[in-house]
Amino acid sequence: MSEALETLDMEKRHEAVVGVVERWLGNPISRALLRLVSGRTRHGNRLDLALRSYVGEDVPEDLSFRDKLASAVTKLVIDRGSKSFGVSRGKMREYLKDPIIRRGVSNVLEGIARYGVRRPFTSVAPFLIVWNYTRLCNQRCKHCYENASPEADTSDELTTEEAKRAVDEFRDEGVVAIAFSGGEPLMRKDIFEVAGYAKEQGFYVAMATNGTLITRDIAKKIKEVFDYVEVSLDGFEETHDEFRGIKGSWRRTCEGIKNCVAEGVDTCVAITATHYNFEEIPELLDFVGEELGAKRAIVFNYVPVRRGREIVKEDLTPEERWCLLEELFKRLVDKNNPMTTYSTAPQYAVVSLELAHAPVVSTHFVSQESMRMMRGKAGALAQFIGGCGAGRLYLGLEPNGDVEPCVFIPIVIGNIREQSLREIWQNSEVLKKIRDRDKFEGCGECKYKYVCGGCRARAYGYFGDLQAADPGCPYNAEYWERVQKRMS
Ligand code: SF4
Ligand code: SF4
Repeated sequence: MSEALETLDMEKRHEAVVGVVERWLGNPISRALLRLVSGRTRHGNRLDLALRSYVGEDVPEDLSFRDKLASAVTKLVIDRGSKSFGVSRGKMREYLKDPIIRRGVSNVLEGIARYGVRRPFTSVAPFLIVWNYTRLCNQRCKHCYENASPEADTSDELTTEEAKRAVDEFRDEGVVAIAFSGGEPLMRKDIFEVAGYAKEQGFYVAMATNGTLITRDIAKKIKEVFDYVEVSLDGFEETHDEFRGIKGSWRRTCEGIKNCVAEGVDTCVAITATHYNFEEIPELLDFVGEELGAKRAIVFNYVPVRRGREIVKEDLTPEERWCLLEELFKRLVDKNNPMTTYSTAPQYAVVSLELAHAPVVSTHFVSQESMRMMRGKAGALAQFIGGCGAGRLYLGLEPNGDVEPCVFIPIVIGNIREQSLREIWQNSEVLKKIRDRDKFEGCGECKYKYVCGGCRARAYGYFGDLQAADPGCPYNAEYWERVQKRMS
């Protein structure tokens, strides 16, 4: 079969799967049933209870009629849903034995009950909250989106008790994962106490750190509490130290990564791509895998926000970004390369889709294993969950409780000291705007709008409008030219 025909065949398959999901889960009867069975019982989250029963776990004997109905409906929905994506019932059961995956699935099903099967999908509560836990940092990076520094004013930050109350609220709302970021989260003395508390409450707990404070002992503590750690490394020694503003930083970060790896922490190296390091990245990826032993790397899109605005001229061109994403994707699907390589650039899904024979990267939270499981079907999944997750699947939280659609979008949409998470998630006009991809300039006319949608933070950073075009994409070339003219 010719390449063109295979691509066509794949597109048809995606369409077919999308159709099945929309007809089955998006129809009013399924939605009404899901609405009827979602919610809380005296035994906790009713859908979670139903999922536990689906995988054969013990559930209380005194279930109400509605609880039992929830089990029947959930079984039907999961069986049909997994069939649509070509996943066997046995495999699905195996996956659902993981309480974190179960929490994610019930979040999705409740999201369908509330919002329907939208393209792109909006979950009932954020799947992930990235929590900038403090503005304190022992470095002064050029691209910092938080203006963090060693002298930062921390007087308005949430106290330990407030932080734990926030964790309770996130648990009750069905949030699945919390990623502690900063500033440097390890600069706050209560980080292990609060993150440990989140772990006890059943969250997937992650941390983004500069790694310089991670001794072997700290790595041991990290292993006890965190499921995943992302350490920033922006190049080889000279580039990294120049970028981070502190000499010796590179060596300490590399030590921190090695300490995490040695303690068995799931460690990912995060690289922010700019002209400072563009040429070095392929070699850096080799170094990360071979010398530092990390099994994952993620390349962050540069976003012109806060201190990062000062280096806007160092942003990659659309062509450079595309080329880098292709390099990452080729590494990702290379069987001889044990390292997973992702990017936060939503165009990563498009690049993978265009390299037509390969599975599609539907979101940068997927694992290699789940990609294998979804092989050939991930394009359809990407139609629902793909691309930018800001305000649909994820929220940013500032050290003082301010809530933002994404940590790279400096628009405060509420504060958890004053409002509930649910109130913000359901009523924010800013979030409604960000979820409506059909109205986006440039990206809204693109055939990949549901798979990608462009980075809303970059659109806002460049044009001051959340519905503007992401100028970092070859499909939006005219907007990139506009930006260049303005800067020249
Ligand atoms: S706006 Fe979207 S794509 Fe951009 S950084 Fe935030 S979540 Fe990622
Ligand atoms: S034009 Fe926008 S939606 Fe289309 S691929 Fe580019 S960034 Fe993504």
